Amino acid sequence: MKHPEACTQCGTCVSVCPVEKVGGHAFVTFLADPEATDYSAWLCTSCHRCEESCPEGVPIYALIMEQRRHEQPPAGYAAAIEAVLACGESLQVSQEDLNQMRATWELERVTLPPPGLVRKLLSGK
Ligand code: SF4
Ligand code: SF4
Repeated sequence: MKHPEACTQCGTCVSVCPVEKVGGHAFVTFLADPEATDYSAWLCTSCHRCEESCPEGVPIYALIMEQRRHEQPPAGYAAAIEAVLACGESLQVSQEDLNQMRATWELERVTLPPPGLVRKLLSGK
């Protein structure tokens, strides 16, 4: 990825990024330091805070998506997408485990959506 000309490497995007706040290095690390190599476009939470804070109007989110289009997703992403399509959650949890967890917080029981419902809703059929 070519470093965007409009970027002055001011670091504002890094200072507002929630990923950076917890010690990760998102794509904004590269913007503030074009020599950096320890960042990942896949850590982004899509909060858009970086772009909203950038004084130079750099289209950061579009750059993140562009970077992703040129990379293979990290291991586990494909399985997580399949899980979302299958049950609506990226980390699958059984009906009973979910309600046991909820019981410890004194929350009422819930019923998970039936398998395949998310895929069906997204298909529009
Ligand atoms: S806030 Fe904007 S100008 Fe500053 S480092 Fe980030 S992208 Fe570059
Ligand atoms: S959109 Fe991504 S890179 Fe930008 S602040 Fe949010 S998590 Fe960080």
